[in-house]
Parts: sequence; structure tokens; C-alpha cells
Amino acid sequence: MADPESPARMFRCSFCAKPQTEVAKMVSGPGVLICNECVKLCEDVMAAYPDQLEPASIMVPDKMPIEQLLAVLRGYNTAVERVDAAMQDLADILRERNVSWSVIGEALGVSRQAAWKRFG
Ligand SMILES: [Zn+2]
Repeated sequence: MADPESPARMFRCSFCAKPQTEVAKMVSGPGVLICNECVKLCEDVMAAYPDQLEPASIMVPDKMPIEQLLAVLRGYNTAVERVDAAMQDLADILRERNVSWSVIGEALGVSRQAAWKRFG
């Protein structure tokens, strides 16, 4: 659960995992955040392949260079922890808004007790 003494919640980019303190801007979407650096990377990919409807080939794993595959693999290595932390954060916010463990459990397809045990 969030530390009530903590002055602010720490947000991380959903794409590169950098915390808000290490980037200039962070934009939120439904359940995700993206930093200005990742937006710039997306802009560069879009500009490089303006008419391509398929995912840019540099983003398809079969065509990625080894160094990029290793970088993606390193990112995936901590993905589960980042998703768990993001889910905990959302559960904390819901609890702060007095949403019951039953409702949180229902959203996750688990019992009230299971939701409380995981996030309480
Ligand atoms: Zn980012």
C-alpha cells in the first residue's frame, strides 16, 4: 500500500520505465503513461515510415538487430514488476476513493479476499 507519509506518487513511463523525475514530461492514457522521450522515438519512427501501415520493421523482433533485441529483453525482464507496481498503485487510488475490495476483486475476476490479500 502507498506510504501515507509519501509526498507524491511516483509514476513511470509504461514504455521505458523511467520515473517522472528523470523525464521532462509524462502523458497519461487509460492505464498507461508515456514520457516525452518515448513520444519522440514514436515520432521518429512515424516520420521514417510515413506511408507504411504495418508496424515499422525496426520494431518487429525478427528484424531487430541483436543490440535492440537485448535492450527489449532487458526491458521485459522487469515488466512484471512494473505491471505489479502499476496495479498496486491503481488499487491504492481506488481504495483512497473508498471503492470496496469486492468491486476491485470483481474487476480482476477474483474474490474480495483475494483482491485484499494481493493489494491490501
Ligand atoms: Zn518512456
